[in-house]
Amino acid sequence: MEEKRKCFLCGEYLKGRSDKKFCNDHCRNTYNNLLKTNDEENIRSINQVLRKNRQILKESIFQDSSIVDIILLKGRGFVVEFHTHIRLLDTKTYFYCYDIGYTFVNAEAVKIVISHPKN
Ligand SMILES: [Zn+2]
Repeated sequence: MEEKRKCFLCGEYLKGRSDKKFCNDHCRNTYNNLLKTNDEENIRSINQVLRKNRQILKESIFQDSSIVDIILLKGRGFVVEFHTHIRLLDTKTYFYCYDIGYTFVNAEAVKIVISHPKN
């Protein structure tokens, strides 16, 4: 017995081709727009954390580099799990939030550096 399939959006029973997912263009377009909206919201909320992290690093830097207690950064809302990319330089791992990065100098402190993408 063939299983009755339903429209992904409105739940109406589908007729016709067995690979059909939506009852009409309106349902397909609305569904795809909802997915896209969720994607954009997810990206936006992660970007907010990354931008805030970058701002905290930027405000904690003096001249070209600075050593700061990680607990002070966290106290200002820095989220260690969020960074845009990682670089290995002179056996040290640098975690970047866009163009500003840091590396651990010991368990409690990080050295913050400003770097441009080409470097
Ligand atoms: Zn539908």
